[in-house]
Amino acid sequence: MLPRSARPCLQALLLAAVTAAGAGAQVTAPPAGPTRFSAALAERPAVRDALAWLELHFDDQVAEWIRITEMPAKSGSEQQRAGYVKAQFEAMGLVATIDSIGNVTARRPGTGGGETVVFAAHLDTVHPLDTDVTVKRDGGVLRAPGIFDNSASVANMLAMARALQAANVRTRGDIVFVGTVQEELGLRGMDYWLRTNPDVADVLVALDGGLPGVSYGALGIYWTRYHFTGAGSHTNTSAGKPHPARALADAIRSIYEIRIPDGRGGAVYNVGMLDGGSIFNAIPQDVSFTLDLRSVNPALLDSLDAEIDRRVAAAAAAHGVEWSKEPVQRNRAGGTEDMLRDRRAHPLVQTAVDAHAHFGLASRAIASGSTDANVGVVAGLPSISIGRAMGGEQHTLSEWAERDSALPATRIALMIGVAMAGLADTTM
Ligand SMILES: [Zn+2]
Repeated sequence: MLPRSARPCLQALLLAAVTAAGAGAQVTAPPAGPTRFSAALAERPAVRDALAWLELHFDDQVAEWIRITEMPAKSGSEQQRAGYVKAQFEAMGLVATIDSIGNVTARRPGTGGGETVVFAAHLDTVHPLDTDVTVKRDGGVLRAPGIFDNSASVANMLAMARALQAANVRTRGDIVFVGTVQEELGLRGMDYWLRTNPDVADVLVALDGGLPGVSYGALGIYWTRYHFTGAGSHTNTSAGKPHPARALADAIRSIYEIRIPDGRGGAVYNVGMLDGGSIFNAIPQDVSFTLDLRSVNPALLDSLDAEIDRRVAAAAAAHGVEWSKEPVQRNRAGGTEDMLRDRRAHPLVQTAVDAHAHFGLASRAIASGSTDANVGVVAGLPSISIGRAMGGEQHTLSEWAERDSALPATRIALMIGVAMAGLADTTM
């Protein structure tokens, strides 16, 4: 899920989209597609039993949620959680494997003739391994780094699988559960999983983010570091010499003069880190800055990326220095709301919205997102992300989540799985 610091940017993008729509542009909200949810489906005996099982065992789910949170799992160091999750799936009677990057996959076979629904919950957190991850209970609120993003989803996914097993819910399609790694490093685990498991998923549901969000798009995020280099010189002899720091200053000023075009989905960017130089009385030989560029529109993202290169090149030329570009992360954009009209029309999205409503949560489908689902969206696979609880302050030491909100979140996930995979006729 987006770091908290990025959320205002997303809100700005959404606001920009709304403003563009309100300004008389030919943009109308994309129509909803058909749903596979029905109240009758939730009342089928096996489904009702599974939903009841979740409530009956919710204290155990919370205890497991806390246990998972207290396993340090910085991106790239998810092994303890992965081992735990694999063992839990095996204890349920499912076949589970760990791939070479560390993703855990468990498959719950269907009876045939249905779509395969893949659920993904990322195992990793942003918190260093020596962070105090002891969970503190504060009334109905749980507090600990990682409690919300994304330990809640991992516990929800395990509880959901157990409930389906306990109530013997038979689906036509397979339900596949994936605990992904390195989500916080640019969705690497999910990216690897989809590349190494082509044609497995018919739809993808990432468990990530706060209730009651339903995201069916993908915010593109490009992280780039730009370097300026030169020979350097003592201050006494520096007049008129090539100057990387002056090139950097000009480049940043120029980049902030770029005008974002209206009506193309919007974009935001930020220079977040400056580095370079080590001597008071000399022109630095190497300076750098980082740029975080975001848009849901892939064409706009690429054109802004190219425009920024041009401005960096011009600033370097003006000060007689070399420049280079280091792409750090490239997460592709899914498209604007208008470009994703067919995605909004896919049953997955409306099924998710209706499942939320059934449990009393009013959700809105949003054509953006920043979760494992992005990889699916960009690959053309019908993909959404749904929330795992109410909570906040993610990616900080004061992260928190509302204990009881994980129950409806888990029930919603289960209902989406059953509705999309289809209930087998043999199921009571
Ligand atoms: Zn997350």
